[in-house]
Amino acid sequence: MIPFNKPFIIGKELKYIEEAVKSGKISGDGIFTKKCQEFFQNRYSFSKVLLTTSCTDALEMAAILCDIKEGDEVIVPSYTFVSSANAFALRGAKLVFADSCSDNPNVDPEEIDRLITDKTKVIVPVHYAGVACDMEAIMSLAEKYNLFVVEDAAQAIDSYYTFSDGTKKALGSIGHFGSFSFHETKNIIAGEGGMLVINDERFFERAEIIREKGTNRSAFFRGEVNKYGWVDIGSSFLPSEIISAFLYGQLEHLEEIQARRIAIWDRYYDGLKYLAEEGFLQLPLIPDYASNNAHMFYMVCRSYEERTALIQFMKEQDIHPVFHYLSLNKSDYFLKDNMEVDIINSDYFTDCLLRLPFYYDLNEEQIDKIVNEIKEFYKIESNFS
Ligand SMILES: *Cc1c(COP(=O)(O)O)cnc(C)c1O
Repeated sequence: MIPFNKPFIIGKELKYIEEAVKSGKISGDGIFTKKCQEFFQNRYSFSKVLLTTSCTDALEMAAILCDIKEGDEVIVPSYTFVSSANAFALRGAKLVFADSCSDNPNVDPEEIDRLITDKTKVIVPVHYAGVACDMEAIMSLAEKYNLFVVEDAAQAIDSYYTFSDGTKKALGSIGHFGSFSFHETKNIIAGEGGMLVINDERFFERAEIIREKGTNRSAFFRGEVNKYGWVDIGSSFLPSEIISAFLYGQLEHLEEIQARRIAIWDRYYDGLKYLAEEGFLQLPLIPDYASNNAHMFYMVCRSYEERTALIQFMKEQDIHPVFHYLSLNKSDYFLKDNMEVDIINSDYFTDCLLRLPFYYDLNEEQIDKIVNEIKEFYKIESNFS
């Protein structure tokens, strides 16, 4: 059986958990949390990093920090995970869904431009498959209209954007906030886990408070105040040391993990190139300004029916590819209060995009088997012998 995803252990994850337990502190903000945060700050030049219990929680923190009020408009791609939108819905925002580009699932900046009104407060670019959105275009819109940018970089660890002047920046470090996930389906895993990157120092202090249930407990532990209490709204957004210990065990092997994932990605790409050239399917597009962190390998089928048939065909060989998002503007939740409209490219990726099995332990033999089964499927489809 080749599943879609499989969690893995690569280094001292379990040993570090044991160390954390033996140290006598397994609640949040201990040694391993600090080590992880410093690792990210140093490697990616993030101004400030706070580990969170998930990317969803990091997005919720960002929504609070942007001071979203009832009726504020937030522009989110329609083709994304629910959390990119939900975090703002929780604060009473009006969600405005933007379409993807026609040649890749990332949000189209021209669509964002068209949707901006005087109520718009935040843009949420989602770096799909870890491939950068057009951040130069998005940041210039944000500057022009004085908007916050919250990068949903859940899939985008170790990925970069290059500006037209040649400056290269890590995804998550460009907007006011960046949010990442260490869910077991991502490149670097901790089971459940995430982080909020804060790039604007005006928010450093309030971010710590919101993460610690609305208290100034973090400042208290640094000796900056002599008692701590309730100073703002907030929730419990910090992970336990058990999570951070596991995560740190992975971080020590980040380069190895990334190298392996890129090798898997390249092998898929080379294996399927011929079918793409013949027009049977489309392969991922990586724009010149973006790097590839090999978070995901997807292909785009010619129709919903063909994708369904391919999934079925693969399942019979015990291989389990999966489709991905369903346009959020057509979700049951959103349609309760809104009219159904078509968002063309988002609907196209909803119907036609297929993700192939992708995990650290996937080996060459398995990749070749998957590629060969896909070739076999199109051979039968096109009746060539
Ligand atoms: C995985 C993912 C999330 C949610 O991450 P969690 O850590 O599971 O909360 C949010 N947005 C995108 C784009 C994701 O891929």
